[in-house]
Amino acid sequence: MTTPPFDPPSELDIATVSAQLGRPARNVIGIAARCVCGAPTVVSTSPRLQDGTPFPTLYYLSHPAATAAVSTLEANGVMTELSALLEGDVAEQYLAAHNAYLADRNGIEFVAELDGISAGGMPSRVKCLHALVGHTLAAGPGVNPIGDRALALAAWSPTVCECVDYSADIVTVGSGETR
Ligand SMILES: [Zn+2]
Repeated sequence: MTTPPFDPPSELDIATVSAQLGRPARNVIGIAARCVCGAPTVVSTSPRLQDGTPFPTLYYLSHPAATAAVSTLEANGVMTELSALLEGDVAEQYLAAHNAYLADRNGIEFVAELDGISAGGMPSRVKCLHALVGHTLAAGPGVNPIGDRALALAAWSPTVCECVDYSADIVTVGSGETR
């Protein structure tokens, strides 16, 4: 788990993320979380893309098995369950998570269009568990109470490698050839 400042991503990191996403990964500034095997699970993207577009999602869940497991949670109505927890202490922790997210992103670059906008529905709603789990994986446990709970419920864990062999896709992405 890593919050900024990040080490620069390696060429293999970029190629692996591109294979995970099925498209060339651009404007990657770091790998915020990894599988036990070392493969990226959360990719960090520049808050402003090279073409000028603001990009709010600093912590993007890129790992196919992780995104699939979180999509299953969303399909099973877990967002409604977790939204119901946003009272008292949990609501306060969630607001603190929102502020931590903004501080991480603003520490890289302050983008005026994104002022006060974090991700996943923070600070008062639960809108995207992928973004919240991405935050949990980057920041570690105890920062994002909803991301922590969603990760605990998911049928995927960063401690159990479910990575496929990306090498075939990496060659494809690197060469620019179509399959
Ligand atoms: Zn792995």
